[in-house]
Amino acid sequence: MLPLVALVGRPNVGKSTLFNALTRTRDALVHDAPGVTRDRNYGVCRLDESRPFALVDTGGIAGVDEGLQGATARQSRAAAEEADLILFIVDGREGASTIDDDILAWLRKVAKPTFLVVNKTDGIDVPAALAEFARYGIKDVLAVSSAHKQGLDALLAKVLAQL
Ligand code: GDP
Ligand code: MG
Repeated sequence: MLPLVALVGRPNVGKSTLFNALTRTRDALVHDAPGVTRDRNYGVCRLDESRPFALVDTGGIAGVDEGLQGATARQSRAAAEEADLILFIVDGREGASTIDDDILAWLRKVAKPTFLVVNKTDGIDVPAALAEFARYGIKDVLAVSSAHKQGLDALLAKVLAQL
């Protein structure tokens, strides 16, 4: 069985865009409206042909207010629990939100290897965007633009080194 990487984060941070870039498909629905991906969506990343791994995209966690028992949150939790590595995706343009804080608290309990992926860093001050998330205390941080396919080589190298 291939190792499994889960994409976790609140709606609209670009999880499905990253999923599509890594799997080179358009299988995951990308939409401006949050919550388009409702079920878990699986694919395979073969960007390094010799080392494929599986990816799971989820609808995202809309925060403790909506309840970690909600349908999409349940999918995210199931994905995280079956994964070998979690990519915690956040929006570098919007910065840290309370929902991100809630997800971080939950991820700490899951206690799996977790990289922080700061997405949407195209055309912005990247060090400032990263500084927003420094207090999260996640050691492995990557700045990417999934839409513009920037930073994906570094992300891939880091993922493969972990798996
Ligand atoms: P998800 O809900 O987390 O799966 O987010 P989506 O992948 O559906 O993307 C939400 C919105 O963010 C869409 O309008 C995307 O086009 C946009 N988006 C995703 N990645 C990037 C990025 O790297 N840069 C910019 N500027 N927009 C992005
Ligand atoms: Mg999605």
